[in-house]
Amino acid sequence: MTEHPRYPICRTCGVQYGAPREDCPICLDERQYVGWSGQQWTDLAELRAAGHRGRVEEEGENVVGVGADPPTAIGQRALLVRTPAGNVLWDAITLIDDGLVERVRELGGVDAIAVSHPHFYGSMVEWAEAFDAPVWIHSADKEWIARPSDRVRFWDGDVQPLLGGELTLVNAGVHFAGGQVLHWAGAEGGRGALFSGDIFTVVSDRRWVSFMYSYPNLIPERPRTIRRALRLIEPYSFEKVYGAWWNRVVAADGTTAITASADRYLRFALDDGPED
Ligand SMILES: [Zn+2]
Ligand SMILES: [Zn+2]
Repeated sequence: MTEHPRYPICRTCGVQYGAPREDCPICLDERQYVGWSGQQWTDLAELRAAGHRGRVEEEGENVVGVGADPPTAIGQRALLVRTPAGNVLWDAITLIDDGLVERVRELGGVDAIAVSHPHFYGSMVEWAEAFDAPVWIHSADKEWIARPSDRVRFWDGDVQPLLGGELTLVNAGVHFAGGQVLHWAGAEGGRGALFSGDIFTVVSDRRWVSFMYSYPNLIPERPRTIRRALRLIEPYSFEKVYGAWWNRVVAADGTTAITASADRYLRFALDDGPED
């Protein structure tokens, strides 16, 4: 693939910046953390030379995981969502190389990219350039864009149709104000699927999700923010919920998993009864 200038990548969050800088605002934010050895930078050439390779594996019906092995930074995998109206790359990873681009091309390429929130921006602009695709980001997260680009398409409001309405972005707003989830009504033979990143994170008991303002620092999300998210996704039904890491998938009755998980969360968060 064409040689890119060495855009700096934060080693801790894996986000690529458009120019060299001292600090990483995404890691300085209270939802993340600066690596314990201090701020460190790398770039794509160094990651490739260190032996990171693409990992492409089916995660579900017409849903293919796209990640790195060994993983980089936060270790999330992206998902190529293959629909009759075209392919969406949901979330982004830091690594991109000729092999990965070739394999994704064989699967039909990428018509649009959408990233749940800033922790998963990775090298999204590199991916956008490789596939000549727009990157859909909610405007409430504009301040976190690390590598400005004409490829990034900001949207406002609660919902945004993609690929002629085949899929819908919903500004759930959990974890980040611009946090978005992706709904595909046509998934699973019409029963639907929700792609949730860590806006609704699929937990170890994969029948459930949770809702955190910060995962590494264990700061819970505000109840009112969760209630707003529930109102916004209420019109959508889905069988599966795809979280942000390999095999983190709610396999069945995803709609109920989200509402039951929110009920459980709010029961604990709002219990202000007498002390034990
Ligand atoms: Zn960072
Ligand atoms: Zn996150």
